[in-house]
Amino acid sequence: MDVWICVLNYLLTLKDTFHTPTPPFHTAKHEMLGCIVLLQYLCVENNANNMKRILSRILLALVVIVVLGMLIPQNLKMPVVGADSNSYNHETFWYEGWGTSIVHKGIDVFARRGTRVNSATIGIVLCTAEYGKGGKFVLVLGPKWRLHYYAHLDEITTKPLALVGHGTQIGTVGNTGNAATTPAHLHYGIGTLIPYPWRIDDAPLGHQKAFYLNPIDYLKGK
Ligand SMILES: [Zn+2]
Repeated sequence: MDVWICVLNYLLTLKDTFHTPTPPFHTAKHEMLGCIVLLQYLCVENNANNMKRILSRILLALVVIVVLGMLIPQNLKMPVVGADSNSYNHETFWYEGWGTSIVHKGIDVFARRGTRVNSATIGIVLCTAEYGKGGKFVLVLGPKWRLHYYAHLDEITTKPLALVGHGTQIGTVGNTGNAATTPAHLHYGIGTLIPYPWRIDDAPLGHQKAFYLNPIDYLKGK
């Protein structure tokens, strides 16, 4: 409706400009024009208010979604079937001198090639690919807006957008990517979309600790 008012207003203004030698005359036409300008102003005001209301609702919905995601329990499980706390080095998270990565932003769980890898949490698969240092990898969005990264897989057995649970196989242990010269293992890392700035310290790339969590903190006793 306001579009038509704008068009009509514009046409009337044009008409005044080009065809009335000494405007404005106080005629019925000009009163109508005044009404239209007022209506147009009210419509614009209304639209601004509507837009503010829509934006505040979108913001509220986003806050609710983030809070709900934070409330989902993580209940993390060892992703490599048959592995335990002896299957990984407890000191390698943020280990320095880790080649071009500078530090090790996860843990390496050693197992025989082909060993089943399950999702460590419930979640949704965001990405599966074979790329760069991680070789064949799977990225899962889990509870609390955390990203679970499973790398060096021998095989990928899931697809993007698949819903996964603790028992859902996502691949098998391998040594693809830059692990070609090391025994088969799963590189498992946990990232967080909600930053934890209090974890930042003076270590190399210490500022990134706000976004990388130590999987061992959640695997203890599992
Ligand atoms: Zn690793």
